[in-house]
Amino acid sequence: MSGENPYLAHLPPSQRKIGGNGSDPFTGMIVRKTTAEQAEKLENGSFNPFTNKPFTAKYQSILEGRRKLPVHAQRSEFLDMIHSSQFIVLVGETGSGKTTQIPQFMVYDELPHLKGKQIACTQPRRVAAMSVAQRVADEMDVELGQEVGYNIRFEDNTSPKTFLKYMTDGMLLREAMSDPKLSRYSAIILDEAHERTLNTDILMGLLKEICKTRRDLQVVIMSATLDAGKFQKYFDNAPLLNVPGRTFPVEIYYTPEPERDYLEAAIRTVVQIHVSEPEGDILVFLTGEEEIEQACRKIKAEVDEQIRQTDCGPIKVVPLYSTLPPSAQQRIFDRAPPPRKPGGTPGRKVVVSTNIAETSLTIDGIVYVIDPGFAKQKVYNPRIRVESLLVSPISKASAQQRAGRAGRTRPGKAFRLYTEGAFNKELIEQTYPEILRSNLGSVVLQLKKLGIDDLVHFDFMDPPAPETLMRALELLNYLGALDDDGELTPTGEMMSAFPLDPQLCKMLIESPKYRCSNEILSIAALLSVPQIFIRPNEARKLADEAKANFTHGDGDHLTLLNAYHAYKTNNDNPDWCWENFLNHRSLKSADNVRQQLKRTMESWDLDLVSTPFEDKAYFTNIRKAMTAGFFMQVAHLERSGHYFTMKDNQPVQLHPSSGLGHKPEWVLYHEFVLTTRNYIRTCTEVKADWLLDIAPSYYNMGNFPQSSAKRALEKLLSRRARVIEEDSRKSKKRRS
Ligand code: ADP
Ligand code: MG
Repeated sequence: MSGENPYLAHLPPSQRKIGGNGSDPFTGMIVRKTTAEQAEKLENGSFNPFTNKPFTAKYQSILEGRRKLPVHAQRSEFLDMIHSSQFIVLVGETGSGKTTQIPQFMVYDELPHLKGKQIACTQPRRVAAMSVAQRVADEMDVELGQEVGYNIRFEDNTSPKTFLKYMTDGMLLREAMSDPKLSRYSAIILDEAHERTLNTDILMGLLKEICKTRRDLQVVIMSATLDAGKFQKYFDNAPLLNVPGRTFPVEIYYTPEPERDYLEAAIRTVVQIHVSEPEGDILVFLTGEEEIEQACRKIKAEVDEQIRQTDCGPIKVVPLYSTLPPSAQQRIFDRAPPPRKPGGTPGRKVVVSTNIAETSLTIDGIVYVIDPGFAKQKVYNPRIRVESLLVSPISKASAQQRAGRAGRTRPGKAFRLYTEGAFNKELIEQTYPEILRSNLGSVVLQLKKLGIDDLVHFDFMDPPAPETLMRALELLNYLGALDDDGELTPTGEMMSAFPLDPQLCKMLIESPKYRCSNEILSIAALLSVPQIFIRPNEARKLADEAKANFTHGDGDHLTLLNAYHAYKTNNDNPDWCWENFLNHRSLKSADNVRQQLKRTMESWDLDLVSTPFEDKAYFTNIRKAMTAGFFMQVAHLERSGHYFTMKDNQPVQLHPSSGLGHKPEWVLYHEFVLTTRNYIRTCTEVKADWLLDIAPSYYNMGNFPQSSAKRALEKLLSRRARVIEEDSRKSKKRRS
């Protein structure tokens, strides 16, 4: 072997000699091994080795900043580690450069494009995948979607040129279904592993398996806070790289008394900090879009009021949550506004965010953190088969992460809107892994498709409760995805091709039988995007009037469909959407989702058909097809006027947003919402006859617990029996 490296043939001769060769410890194959110094030389060069274009000035200035990040100091150590171990665990403070730099270190080391391979970096959150991919494309001086791209559900922003891909953990898991060895990747970085999302947990188990035969696949597990020992042990005693943070001390303040209303307290605290504390941006943690938008409005209004009375500085309030359009997300990186007049009080930026800002996205310049102590978290109760997002107290580990956001650039302050006693006694140490809090229907279907039959012996880091697994198997069996031996059926095979919950998949697959697959496609898409109806606080009445124009008295799903059809009739016009209180972005994205689902339908030869609109059965057929997927999510109206869910007998109420014109005896619901009350949201009337005919095995009276629903169904069954008897008597009479 000469000193020339065949992988570097594309470089000008002067640069070709970088990189010594060595042999792979597993395969004995000659591989390129770069030193940090060599890689930096490439980065410092005058032209981009990936595009062969000269580097821009912007690149140079970002590069300078990147060199100051803590991970940079450990580039050599990192490279040594990946050269000698298939798995490595990397832990470093938020903001140390893990997500943006480590994948680039690997790119410069592996040059994956020359081998026709890619490097994937997974993120639990869509927002993080999009935002970080944009940043890294800028850092590498390439166009987003070309060499560097991202892939999230229903949005693939990559090209054949892409060699570095940020993606949600769910998308990588999905790819594994069609490419079980993940053969297109030379390295996989599982980021934010401490989040322990359902998909990351499954991926870890899967990667362990895959790596047994794919010795050339490099795996890096990264996290901000991590019980590193647990991860190292899980990955065959993988070595640990600890990136020491450069954080400043953060003073923690507690409230002396519990706060009654954390939202109001958070807003009040922002205003207090703004008028009384020195320069420095504020980060507020809240739980969801609506709450965040409301807080932003109130903060702005109150600070405007203060500006009239005092000489406090101007303020820029920026929301951050997952459904925000990318351009709006980018605003969190804007600078604080300048003083109102030269020499005046400096301005301040206030970011009001969900948990995303806890570790997923690093915002520089934050000095004050306000932590009310809550986050929206998934909870699942297998006994009553209810999964819901619930505003719940965070863990001590989360509270510490949140406080840490204040000490990135200089000493900071964290205001916890709860008492010190509550922190010590009420908060749990770590958030439970999602796998212990989720409905596993989708995951079990995916695992089955991946050929993992023995779920009980799958190498989970934390195995799910047996009852949860049983529930998932039961659901898939009723839906016809698994047979009685737990084997994947052809229907199950087809269902696993759709990136949707099993019920939605089943509804789509059944829809051609009811001659409404075109409409069901639209409904499935509309259920997969953020809410299309807008209801601003200051214009509730007008918004409700606008919605009434689309309302279908038989079901909220049909209302969604009506609005979508009207949107299409009006040529996707954003102004029309605005006038009708419809979210144009959501509708547009529903359109895109629909296109993609349609392609999957076509690839399985599922007919795309409609019942003629004039036909009386138009809406009935749609409701029947929905029943074919959602027959396990039905509530029955008791004589007392209360609804109870089928079989599990949970008392529920129709969500106030429902447009059902009456209280039908049987309603199918899309979602169970747990708040102070149990609500069912997005409801459509169904008929008992359909339930018995469409899902006879689920509605088998033999295994149906006593309830008013059961009595009603039994009555119907005996009426049916009488009719049959009567008919046969009549026909006998006629014959004699
Ligand atoms: P980690 O993953 O260790 O938390 P990151 O790699 O996400 O750290 O961030 C490293 C640095 O890159 C941070 O200081 C952050 O300010 C900067 N950064 C990341 N994304 C952006 C962006 N979109 N705009 C400006 N700076 C960014
Ligand atoms: Mg990160």
